[in-house]
Amino acid sequence: MSDFPTELFINGELRPSKSRKTIPQINPATEEQFCAVAAATLEDLEDAVQGAQQAFVTQWRDLTPRKRTDLLFGLAAMIRKNSESLAQLECRNIGKPIADARDEVELGARVFEYYAGAIGKFFGQTIPVGRGGFDFTLRQPMGAVAAIVPWNFPFPIACWKVAPALAAGNTVVLKPASQSPLTAIYLGKLAHEAGLPVGTLQVLPGSGGQIGDALVKHALIRKISFTGSTVVGAHIMELAAHDLKRVSLELGGKSPNIIFADSNVDEAASSSPMSVFANTGQDCCARSRVFVERSVYDRFVEGFVTATKKLVVGDPTDDKTQIGPLVSSAQREISEKFIGEAQGQGRKIACGGKRLNRKGYFLEPTVILEVQPNDRVWREEVFGPVVSIRPFEDETKMLEEVNASPYGLSGSIWTNNLQRALRVARAVESGVLSINSHSSVHLEAPFGGFKQSGIGRDLGMNAMEGYTEVKNVYIAG
Ligand code: NAP
Ligand code: MG
Repeated sequence: MSDFPTELFINGELRPSKSRKTIPQINPATEEQFCAVAAATLEDLEDAVQGAQQAFVTQWRDLTPRKRTDLLFGLAAMIRKNSESLAQLECRNIGKPIADARDEVELGARVFEYYAGAIGKFFGQTIPVGRGGFDFTLRQPMGAVAAIVPWNFPFPIACWKVAPALAAGNTVVLKPASQSPLTAIYLGKLAHEAGLPVGTLQVLPGSGGQIGDALVKHALIRKISFTGSTVVGAHIMELAAHDLKRVSLELGGKSPNIIFADSNVDEAASSSPMSVFANTGQDCCARSRVFVERSVYDRFVEGFVTATKKLVVGDPTDDKTQIGPLVSSAQREISEKFIGEAQGQGRKIACGGKRLNRKGYFLEPTVILEVQPNDRVWREEVFGPVVSIRPFEDETKMLEEVNASPYGLSGSIWTNNLQRALRVARAVESGVLSINSHSSVHLEAPFGGFKQSGIGRDLGMNAMEGYTEVKNVYIAG
């Protein structure tokens, strides 16, 4: 028996899978299995969806805003009370550095507070239409919705889907990734302890191909909110077409980091490594393509490599660790394949590229230079600790190359020229940008992608709108 929950959380109870099947959980820093989690069957899924629908119709939808607000503030308080256990669990489950895990649990609590506070401030409009009549809109919840979440930021992403969905009056079935289900199950249990009605939040670990697909196909599920790979996102969108199910998709990226000569080049160089290597590069916002104006290229590269070599890579349970292992052996091999291919093409590895001499799926942060525009490492998402840096001479040509990517999620622009900053920010085809900073995820602001990086927005009031239908009502005068 473990001291944390490992079963399905359905209708207010932890319970084993009907098939008794489980998913082994490996600690990526030690390569050891430390527990196994129940894997939902289609029968379990039916119970979860029916329970969520029941909770929607009989309880959650009609609670007063005040009551829903109190319950979500209560859940935020429960997260804070359990923050150290949640952070330790995330660290063990995916090798996330403990300091980051603590920050992410805090973010999860804040997200619940933000949407708890939004409930009573979110409403429709009255609209002047023809003479004498009266027209108003209602923002109505959709029903039972499903959130399918990835393994790279398991807890905060689960929170930033569940919280606005609940705040808007929906009930939620949450499917965590098979590699990172532990904090999601814990969240389900905390929601119950905080007094949310039975069935309001169901947590259903299980195979993406089976449980994920069945959620997308289920007639009672009114929306799928997904974060993960572009391939699976496209597949979900296709499946969702059969009943015009609402989707919001937050997918892959190949985000640019653009350094102009008129910026504070040293600050850009020293801060940029963590814009790609944080979370061991397993970040859809990772700035993995760096464009540097030719005249400051050498200086920037030197600063970047020096800062990269100083990053603390190792034991994720140590407070000082900045970079932990990759989530799995397979995920490390993907990065190694990119690095090997670049070496084979004669590209320069300025630092990194090797495994650490210890157990765990560790890989040194790797900087690749002299890449060409058609190189796979320059064009494709690596989702590991690998960055490429290229010089540019002309702003217009550089922007063409930036926008040639099928992705458009995030990016940074470094310049002290205000006109240039605004011009380039308008031109980059991306949902989220930062200027003279790498900070692009703010819980109060919309987050999501252009092009193949997704559809719809998480966070901010945009997310809450995305979990409602607008109804327009006209009363004759
Ligand atoms: P993934 O397959 O897209 O997994 C994300 C989530 O979708 C998981 O909960 C997964 O469940 C579920 N899923 C998988 N197949 C599904 C299906 N047919 N229908 C419905 N849900 C399904 O991502 P991955 O395989 O873990 O990682 C592969 C690549 O995706 C990475 O290398 C990276 O490029 C990208 N990625 C991007 C993000 C992001 O934040 N945008 C996050 C993670 C990964 P299971 O875990 O049970 O398969
Ligand atoms: Mg997959």
